Amino acid sequence: MSTNQHTHNGLIEHWISGATTPGSSSRRAPVWNPATGERQAEVVLGTAADVDLAVRTAAKAFETWQEVSVTRRSKILFAFRELVNQHVDDLARIVTSEHGKVFSDARGEVLRGLEVVEFACGIPQLLKGEFSEQVSSGVDAYSFRQPLGVVAGITPFNFPAMVPMWMHPIAIACGNTFVLKPSERDPSAALLVAELWQRAGLPDGVFNVVHGDKEAVDALLDHPEIAAVSFVGSTPIARYVHDRASATGKRVQALGGAKNHAVVLPDADLEFAADHITAAAYGSAGQRCMAISAVVAVGAAGDALVEKLRTRAETVRVGPGEDDTAEMGPVVTREARDRIASYVDTGVSEGAAVVVDGRGLRLEGHEDGFFVGPSLLDQVTPAMKVYQDEIFGPVLVVLRAETLEDAIELVNANPYGNGVAIFTSGGEAARTFQRKVSVGMIGVNVPIPVPMAFYSFGGWKDSLFGDRHIHGPEGVGFYTRAKAVTSRWPHVEHAGDAAFHFPTAR
Ligand code: NAD
Repeated sequence: MSTNQHTHNGLIEHWISGATTPGSSSRRAPVWNPATGERQAEVVLGTAADVDLAVRTAAKAFETWQEVSVTRRSKILFAFRELVNQHVDDLARIVTSEHGKVFSDARGEVLRGLEVVEFACGIPQLLKGEFSEQVSSGVDAYSFRQPLGVVAGITPFNFPAMVPMWMHPIAIACGNTFVLKPSERDPSAALLVAELWQRAGLPDGVFNVVHGDKEAVDALLDHPEIAAVSFVGSTPIARYVHDRASATGKRVQALGGAKNHAVVLPDADLEFAADHITAAAYGSAGQRCMAISAVVAVGAAGDALVEKLRTRAETVRVGPGEDDTAEMGPVVTREARDRIASYVDTGVSEGAAVVVDGRGLRLEGHEDGFFVGPSLLDQVTPAMKVYQDEIFGPVLVVLRAETLEDAIELVNANPYGNGVAIFTSGGEAARTFQRKVSVGMIGVNVPIPVPMAFYSFGGWKDSLFGDRHIHGPEGVGFYTRAKAVTSRWPHVEHAGDAAFHFPTAR
């Protein structure tokens, strides 16, 4: 049974100009309940015509929304903040039902998204420009930022509430209008969010949702009236989105996949490290872009750490997301479950030691659910596929390094650069690590260093294409463009000071 109020006879529809619509396509995708394996609804897969309608609607809404005062926009953001806050549990229930993650984790994602809304409430402060008086005799200089127009957000399945909230609150607060293309695997959270925007007083057409797959994405990337694209998803699609949207002159930020390392030094508190690495590796069944998926055990830390990780992995409580005692839910689809299990097979054939084997887990009463248990592989090397690929499931691999420098070299040789953590009791080692490591987000004894909403989120290398990180100050920069004005109100005594040389201050 779907928890979504917006399905019509089991069909999840687009949201354009403040109302649901089935659009023009007869193509549909199933939406599963990962805990039971049942198909709970279908989602419409939008066409280029549906995208065009949404974009034209947003373009029309931009004409008036960009004129709305920044204080009025801020009031709507505050009203939206209140409504999201009142509906945290409703959003979380939808996320659990379609994604599978446990309810407490789904609540956590909504609350982290809410923090971006709270950041965006301060938009009058964030949009303040600069002013320099008397840069030349009788001349002042100032700058301010303006919205871009219609911007698109294309988002992944793993954070169906939070990741879109990295984008639309800031884009809209800056005066843009927005078309969201959420993941077709868990599309319903976007519709409750659309309703909350409407109830907050946002004019219809400012926030729109088009469901779909590649066809809808390509239509957004090519649409001449889209000014900018924010994308979050896997690296191959991020690269594709970046290249295709850039080719049509759009501003693009495309965040990709990850292989996040936890480097554990021998001086670390190994109990503390094992607790936190276990939670970061298996929370949300490893389906987080900031999940720890590789441990680099330095020197003597190795065997003792693996033993502690083993005992913890063996006792992770796996269950359906609505079970309050469960720590880890199912993965998103049957295909994901089979792909993840096959990576453990690959690890075996590559010579890794399987310390904990999550393949073949069957939960009583949930035999058809998409469950796979936690796996721990030791003696992994950088040459193995289980290390090179983003598995995006509850599989943690352990590599060994002799020294901190070797560990940094190993991390830096990896093509991804999203998140990384170091566990140590030494400040100097931590400082060296944070200076030398080629990764965008670093945790010091913090396993999942997702920046707060008032900082910006983004990886390096193959984890981000484009030059702006998402949300926080860089989000405001991404969704606006600057004007610099040089201004003079001439008096009669300035008559005749025009010169043919390049203007210099007087
Ligand atoms: P995905 O790349 O398959 O899908 C992301 C979006 O792209 C979806 O909306 C999907 O409909 C669309 N899409 C998929 N295939 C497409 C194609 N061929 N052409 C055009 N559009 C296409 O990613 P996913 O499986 O939904 O999410 C998991 C991935 O996202 C992981 O790689 C994870 O690391 C990454 N992720 C990264 C971050 C980050 O901040 N860097 C955050 C969350 C997730």
